[in-house]
Amino acid sequence: MLRKMECDSACTGRVAEGCKHCIEGSKMVLFVTGLCKWNCYYCPVSLEKKGLDVMYANEGRVHTDGEIVAEAEAMDATGTGITGGDPLLDMDRTVHMIRLLKDRFGRDHHIHLYTATIDPEKALALQEAGLDEIRFHPPESVWESMDRTRLKETVAALSIDVGIEVPALPGKERELNALVAYARAAGVDFVNLNELEFSESNWDMMDAYGYRVRDELSSAVAGSRETAMAVLKANRRMNVHFCSSTFKDGVQLRRRLIRRAEHTAKPYQQVTEDGTIVRGYLYAEDLAAAEDKLRSMGVPEDLYEVLDNRIEVAPWVLEDIATDVGYRCFLSEQYPTADGLEVERTPLN
Ligand code: SF4
Repeated sequence: MLRKMECDSACTGRVAEGCKHCIEGSKMVLFVTGLCKWNCYYCPVSLEKKGLDVMYANEGRVHTDGEIVAEAEAMDATGTGITGGDPLLDMDRTVHMIRLLKDRFGRDHHIHLYTATIDPEKALALQEAGLDEIRFHPPESVWESMDRTRLKETVAALSIDVGIEVPALPGKERELNALVAYARAAGVDFVNLNELEFSESNWDMMDAYGYRVRDELSSAVAGSRETAMAVLKANRRMNVHFCSSTFKDGVQLRRRLIRRAEHTAKPYQQVTEDGTIVRGYLYAEDLAAAEDKLRSMGVPEDLYEVLDNRIEVAPWVLEDIATDVGYRCFLSEQYPTADGLEVERTPLN
């Protein structure tokens, strides 16, 4: 049965367990390395990561186990998606990350992983380390000749969920249908089709393949959605899930930000419905005098905090007192990410 989901996503059958955590916004994205040998022309990995041996937990660069655990704690993650690059190019690091997360957050912390390397021995080692779900990304050149790969043997060797995840390349229905038919015969649990998107690192697809954006407001590639829906309609007996670009950005990311914001915001900060945090700042040369002024105006101690060069005051309080307090006041709207990137700053007086 074909089931419509939010933001034009859709699925036949069941949605993979890893996707459920992602849809809820409770999955941490752990980018373990930007190294990859596959060179897919549509690769969306950003320029700051591509080809570099760097690690990111969600949006923030990380270097240590402690930073990774702290990010998972900050968003109260129920699961992690390990990605790259190709995580299987550094098995020691990837196995270590799976063990680290399972040791710290327990068996129920669901971990799935994306790789283009189809290697049963490596997949088994990941399963032994505690991996719950693996998603293979075969290059487009083998979609119609998957028998040349070791995927069937890999599926047979594993007891965890195995999926295939590829971009829905416009006009490639025949190749994708062949891939889904192979997946079904090989015992693969699900196939995910992602809406193809332009990113800073793959704009040359426009010239090389004649791809165009779907509309002026979107980075999605025209025709990708239609191709995916045609494949879903032709494969109603297999678990096939189409994930739209608007769903990824508009729903999954927003939910993750809201989750992180609600988990990290202090009582004197305000979480917006977009998942940003609004903070109130009062600037003064003499912070002790400014604090006295706040007290004299009846601001409760639990609704402000003295920082290095300013006082943070609950935004709803600062809006009320800004005209009379005698100091410069601003509202600052920030992402709830590790770097606290400011979205907007509004003067109050
Ligand atoms: S396998 Fe993934 S990370 Fe590697 S080039 Fe292809 S799309 Fe990029």
